[in-house]
Amino acid sequence: MMGLATDGGLLLPEFLPKVDLNTVNGWEALSFQQLASRIFNLFITDIPADQLDSLINRSYETFAHPEITPLVKKGDIFILELFHGPTFAFKDVALQFLGNIFEHILEKTGGMMNIVGATSGDTGSAAIYGVRGKDRINIFILHPHKRVSPIQELQMTTVTDPNVFNLAIKGTFDDGQGIVKSIFNDIPFKDKFHLGAVNSINWARILAQVVYYVYAWLKIKTETGKESIDFSVPTGNFGDIFAGYIAKNLLPQGSIRKLILATNENNLLTRFVNKGDYSVSKVVATSSPSMDIQMASNFERYLYYLYGCDPERTKRDFEQFSQNGRLNFDENLLHTIQADFASKSVSEEETLATIRQFHQEHNYLLDPHTAVGVNAAQKCCSENIPVVCLATAHPAKFGDAVLKAIGKAPDLPSGLQGLEDMESRCEVLDPDVKTIQNFIARHALL
Ligand SMILES: *Cc1c(COP(=O)(O)O)cnc(C)c1O
Repeated sequence: MMGLATDGGLLLPEFLPKVDLNTVNGWEALSFQQLASRIFNLFITDIPADQLDSLINRSYETFAHPEITPLVKKGDIFILELFHGPTFAFKDVALQFLGNIFEHILEKTGGMMNIVGATSGDTGSAAIYGVRGKDRINIFILHPHKRVSPIQELQMTTVTDPNVFNLAIKGTFDDGQGIVKSIFNDIPFKDKFHLGAVNSINWARILAQVVYYVYAWLKIKTETGKESIDFSVPTGNFGDIFAGYIAKNLLPQGSIRKLILATNENNLLTRFVNKGDYSVSKVVATSSPSMDIQMASNFERYLYYLYGCDPERTKRDFEQFSQNGRLNFDENLLHTIQADFASKSVSEEETLATIRQFHQEHNYLLDPHTAVGVNAAQKCCSENIPVVCLATAHPAKFGDAVLKAIGKAPDLPSGLQGLEDMESRCEVLDPDVKTIQNFIARHALL
């Protein structure tokens, strides 16, 4: 719940559990929820199993598909559909659970939490849906006023539960993010108002995402008899693919052969995997905005394992990185990196072409983030090794890109229809730290 550790680093479990083939063979017939329970119990030692099961079951009741994350086969490629949650993006898989486990812990400790965050549009709604209506939690989400798409705005502002506060800031996303940073750096304020975050460095989010990697692996093993597979992961903050790395370490050796790290034109992580060069450049806007990221906030976690669990070296390198914006990795380390990862950067043109081609061949619509992953998989996959592409958003969430690719906008799923007729709630505020702090102070749980 604390987000960053007190020394500014990220939190990790003391050790990573592993399961043997016997154990996983017993997992084949489990539902998604039952599998989540087995995996969480390897990491969580302070919540009784029956309470944890009830939290898991409640978290996935909000999903529109009985399998939660169904696997579909299109040609040679498996698509793992992660978008059946309430906001039609994969972040629901983790955030639905996070809201429930936070509420559970706060009930036990008698605490309160005021969550503060900024969004550029895509991910605020998943956080809001994760905690709407929860006891002991209020959430304040800043978005840039009139700079998010109408559907993104409505997905957030039509949540009118009394614990949800949408703050439209008269400025840019960077203004919003800057304000949130300043608020968290005001330690007396942070402590007084029990501020919390639900951003992608939260360990519980990573943990919840491990489940679908194992779920997909078990399904393919059962259906095809193949025990070694690849995953292609559209990557921004390195959270989702880091969950894949944890799953790879959890399962028997070789179960997950390669993690294909797919980037759009913001290719920092591709340069890292292919050349050992981790150096920041400018962020460019693409049709897959949730991956328009240069500094991958979970990368530090991977670095710790790459360095053989050496926190001092990780810390030293991160200090160097924050000074000169660059890290280089030698041949030896590159060898280790490439044993786990392959990577491709996918251009805008290729992204749209992949949506078009996949639609023509399979009558199946990919959202632009998923298309980046599918394109990278097509370039990296090997014969005889099944590849699973993570479908991170529903195509209707990114209708403009789909329209550009196939000349026709996707049909809206029923959950995204009629939003404009619903009641909505939002405060428009100046992009000023004091203004936002005053608003939070007036509406926070104490
Ligand atoms: C957040 C997001 C991603 C990137 O996931 P990371 O965990 O940040 O790497 C990819 N696609 C969609 C649709 C997202 O919302």
